[in-house]
Amino acid sequence: MSNIAASIITIGDELLIGQTIDTNSAWIAKQLNAQGIDLLRRVAVGDEKAAIVNALDQEISRASLVIITGGLGPTADDITKPLLLEYFGGKMRTDPRVLEHVMGIFAKRNRPVLERNVKQADVPDSCTVLFNRMGTAPGMWFEKDGKVIIALPGVPFEMVCIMEDEVLPRLLQRFSSDAIVHQSIITAGEGESFIAEKIQDLEEALPTHIKLAYLPGPGMVKLRLTGKGADAGVLSAEISIHQAAIAARLQDIVIALEDIPMEQILHRWFTSHDMRLGLAESCTGGCIAHHITQVPGSSAYFMGGIVCYNNAVKQQILGVKQQTLEQEGVISEAAVTEMAQGAIKALGVDYSLAVTGLLGPADDSEKVPNGTVWMAVASANEVQTKKFTFHYDRIRNKEIAVSMGMLMILKFIRGK
Ligand code: ATP
Ligand code: MG
Repeated sequence: MSNIAASIITIGDELLIGQTIDTNSAWIAKQLNAQGIDLLRRVAVGDEKAAIVNALDQEISRASLVIITGGLGPTADDITKPLLLEYFGGKMRTDPRVLEHVMGIFAKRNRPVLERNVKQADVPDSCTVLFNRMGTAPGMWFEKDGKVIIALPGVPFEMVCIMEDEVLPRLLQRFSSDAIVHQSIITAGEGESFIAEKIQDLEEALPTHIKLAYLPGPGMVKLRLTGKGADAGVLSAEISIHQAAIAARLQDIVIALEDIPMEQILHRWFTSHDMRLGLAESCTGGCIAHHITQVPGSSAYFMGGIVCYNNAVKQQILGVKQQTLEQEGVISEAAVTEMAQGAIKALGVDYSLAVTGLLGPADDSEKVPNGTVWMAVASANEVQTKKFTFHYDRIRNKEIAVSMGMLMILKFIRGK
């Protein structure tokens, strides 16, 4: 959908004071972007009539599509809906399908229906109702001077549901479109500038309707090729040629040719090779196990993880030696090696990853600096270790350690 510019307005005092993080506009922006709709602005306003009207005026003057979320629930002080009625004209009417749905929800929960719940079925007759399967507040689709304005409830899963059921298919129909095709190359281990340098000539040779984006993440860089064109099939074949050329040039650091998370890549490798994985996590506290188990069916290869936070657990369950802890310290190559080998035995797996480190902020940083993390991947007869130093706060250090840990496993098994 070329040449469509969109704005997103999020409504809610809680968003302004930082009590609720605005995840809605990030999610919507991603969806619109995937459809080839350009985002102009994301605006957040409080639950205040003048502020909302002002934001509407401004965004409608710039964008041909404006999506609003929030302010439609039963507890809001009835600002947004009457305001939309006033803004777009018409009269309030009760939508019979929404009313039946609202009554049904309360009947199922055995709860009395309050006046304010019944009022959720009232909508301006100037809008098309966007049915909300997951809740009581319907979405609304308005058109004005050739522009589309969509109001959605703020509850994230309700907003997502209406977007997917009602909004995205209608947008495709409403704005006849060019096909948009994305193809990705996921790399790990080198930075953006190294990659840019290495593929400079290939990037310069891209035709104008195909663009390359660098999307860096912890320990990895995603390269995304996006093309616009009349025919999706033709475009896809064309982009594939560029994707293959770039991937061939970056061979050593390419970990996938599609946009999937690391845990999914691990899942595929381990299940297709019929191998088993186990973890010994100290400073990541089970977070790697959490990621791995996000993929359905991971029990096929993931035996389990030991959160060996305390040294006693490292010794008793993983067999880390007292002497190693005393002489080398718990954050050391020797300790992490024993942890990884211990996990192989304790969990009966083919491969293991062990992680021990100091994510900070800490007072025992005279032994090792804050952010020092040792990792080891092991098989029955081989161990590979690596020391990392992360420089962020505790939470971010943990996130990076999780990515780097999964990456270590991936690199180790790739060598097989
Ligand atoms: P309430 O009185 O609960 O705010 P409301 O009518 O204002 O009712 P919404 O504004 O639709 O209801 O929001 C309902 C819930 O969705 C709130 O818990 C809010 O924190 C959350 N929410 C609203 N906007 C967003 C957003 N942009 N991102 C994430 N969550 C949001
Ligand atoms: Mg609100």
